[in-house]
Parts: sequence; structure tokens; C-alpha cells
Amino acid sequence: MDFENSLEFAKMLDQQDPLKDFRDKFLFPNFGKEKTLYFTGNSLGLQPKKVRQYLLEELEDWANLGVEGHFEGRRPWFSYHELLTEKTAQLVGAKPIEVCTTHSLTTNLHLLMCSFYRPTGKRTKILCEAKAFPSDQYALESQLKLHGLSPEHLICIEPREGEYLIREEDICAKIEELGDSLAMIMWGGVNYYTGQFFDVKAITEQGHKVGAVVGFDLAHAVGNVNLMLNAWGPDFAAWCGYKYLNSSPGGVSGFFVHERHANNKALFRLAGWWGQEKNTRFMMEPGFNPMAGAEGWQLSNAPILGMAAHLASLEIFEEAGMERIGAKRDLLTAYLEFVILKTVHQNEHALQIITPKNPIQRGAQLSIMFNDRGKDCFNALSEQGVVADWREPNVIRVAPAPLYNGFEEAYWFGQMLGKALQ
Ligand SMILES: *Cc1c(COP(=O)(O)O)cnc(C)c1O
Repeated sequence: MDFENSLEFAKMLDQQDPLKDFRDKFLFPNFGKEKTLYFTGNSLGLQPKKVRQYLLEELEDWANLGVEGHFEGRRPWFSYHELLTEKTAQLVGAKPIEVCTTHSLTTNLHLLMCSFYRPTGKRTKILCEAKAFPSDQYALESQLKLHGLSPEHLICIEPREGEYLIREEDICAKIEELGDSLAMIMWGGVNYYTGQFFDVKAITEQGHKVGAVVGFDLAHAVGNVNLMLNAWGPDFAAWCGYKYLNSSPGGVSGFFVHERHANNKALFRLAGWWGQEKNTRFMMEPGFNPMAGAEGWQLSNAPILGMAAHLASLEIFEEAGMERIGAKRDLLTAYLEFVILKTVHQNEHALQIITPKNPIQRGAQLSIMFNDRGKDCFNALSEQGVVADWREPNVIRVAPAPLYNGFEEAYWFGQMLGKALQ
């Protein structure tokens, strides 16, 4: 009997966990199982209990104040998004002027690319990862069409033959090769399929060296890995609120525009009234004069209900702090990895974990690739109460979210996987 792979040991790790009480701030689905293990916080985060209260408060203000809620509400709607700014800046390592929250992720990516992807002369190409999240793929293809460019202008880097991860050296080499034909790099912070966390700083520096603009989709990175966007220096980034950030299905998206662009009002953008300077916004006159910083990319007035859910969630992140979240993420992910590898020890050809082993190159996700009968195993896990994620053709993704998952759950996952493999 292996002490580390025991219920006692897992319980001891939970006891020592400085974030153990945060679990009580969330609501857990149950599905009528004896034990439900929710390991899909990378797809849809769980509901913070406080969301209900914050939503009800906005419904009350709307009921009691009507339009006056814009200025007279307990959290006035006119400036509601400002409540999110400082917390968001902390979360992604940015300055407040660099971040804003509104719209949805793909919308924000398009808005930012309309400003930052400006192909001219021979500088026309876009570099991205092969097998990027489909929405990003479509967005990039349509950006090319918008500029009348053929699909060959989209250059995708794949893992090498027989490998699953993209090597950083291959990214650098490709950037150098493309040189002054490269207009924009649009990369995922953490790849949704493999869980690989890329070196944002290195990719940004390489891209800037050849004169390209560099943007990141941080959907699987935000609230998961530790980010320092201001220091790392990408031109722009966007993320969604509903994965690791637990801010409701289809919830509001955050985005980042580096401070070096904050006062560049000449930068082309698709404009809307909420990006207009605050003191002239209600004069309703022609002539768009954007706000400084990320706020200047807002189109529409704020979706308050989505933001109320987001606020409840960001308060939890602020209280826990990304430093403690990161420490638990690494330990918990490593423990889950250990338990999985112990479990398959008898049967080691059944599966492999394709997520990087090095904690610097991953977040709270393990992608388990099966050699055969992966779907059967996934179904057997679901039957026992594991909520994980199946990706064709042969991968199960499990994400132990540090704010609400624990070591005991990791232990039980191993037990259930053992049964499922039989
Ligand atoms: C989840 C995810 C999306 C989803 O986009 P929405 O506009 O929020 O529907 C896009 N890109 C990536 C990389 C994602 O992980």
C-alpha cells in the first residue's frame, strides 16, 4: 500500500491547504451520484454563492429605481464596470488603464484585431497555433477576408511529427523566418486541448523584434496561471469570464490593451458610444473621441447582470490572491498527475498525459490521451460521478480548480479511473 496514494494522505493535504475554506463559497452540482467530482472548471466554472445576492440586488434596484439606477443604484450602472477594473488588473498583472470588462470574448478579439491587425504592403501574415480553439480559427480567417486576403496568409504552427506540444524553438524560428511579412501573432496563453502554457513574454519579444503586433487569447489562462501582462508586453489580449473565472455561462469578457497604446487616439477602432469620453458621452454629438486606455474599446452600455456575477467571482479571486491560487494549483495538479500515474501503473500502455510535466508550462489541467477505448473509459468515469470533458478522438481533460477542488477529490478520481480502466 502506497501512503501517498491513500485517502488519509489526501485528507492531510486538504487539512494543510490554506485555501480549503474557499470551497464553501461555491455551489456544486450533484447529478444524484454518491460522489460527484467536478473537474470541468476550465469549461464552465462553478457558481459562487454570492452571485445570487448580487444579481438580486441589481434586480431590486431596477425594480425600485428604473432608469435612475444608472446613477442612483447602490452600484450605479453608469460606472459599474469600474468596480471590476482594479481586481482585473491584479488578476492579469496589468495597470488599471490597460484593462476593461464588457462584451464577450470572440467579440473583443474581433474589436481588438480591427485595431491591431492592419496589414500593409508585404506585412500581411498572421501567425497562430495549429488547432487553436475553433472560434479563434474562424475569427482569424474572417479577419483575413475583411482585408481581402486569402487563407494562405494564416500561418499555423503544429507540433512536430509524433509530438503533441508545440516547441517554443519552433515558434521562434517561424517568427524569424516570416520576418517583415508578419503583421500579427495571435496566440493562446494556455492551449485548450493539451493544457500547454506558452511563454507569453518570449513570444511577445520575438514578435516585436520583427516588427509584428502580438495578441493573446487568455481564455484558458486567466484565473488559472499567473500572468504579468504589463511586464511581458503584448499589445493586446482578451479572455472570457466563465471558465476558471466562474462568472456565469456566456458571462462578460475582459480585455487588455498595453499602456503604450493608451493615448493613441489615432489607432483605428470600431467605435460605439460607451468608448466615448465620459464627460461628452451624453452630449450625443458626432465626432468620436475615445477614452484613454482599454475603456476606449467599449461599444455598448454595460450588461449589468453579467457584471454582477463577475463581481461576485472577482471578489473571491481578490481574497484568495493569485499567488496562493498558483501554489495550490501546482501542488494539486501534481498530486492528481501522481495519482493517475499510480493507478495506471499496472496498465501503463493504456494512456499517457500529454500536458507538460513542468509546472511552469501548465496550469490546472491534465489532458489524458488514451490508446484505445478512451470513450468507454470516459463513459465509465461519468457513470461513477466524474464530470470531465471528452475531446475527440481520444482525450479526456480534467481540471482541478484550486478554488474549489481538493486533494481528496484527486484521490477519488484515481480510484474511479482504476475501476473505469478495468
Ligand atoms: C472558450 C474559448 C472561446 C469561446 O469564445 P466565446 O466568444 O466566449 O464564446 C474562444 N477562444 C478560446 C481560446 C476559448 O478557450
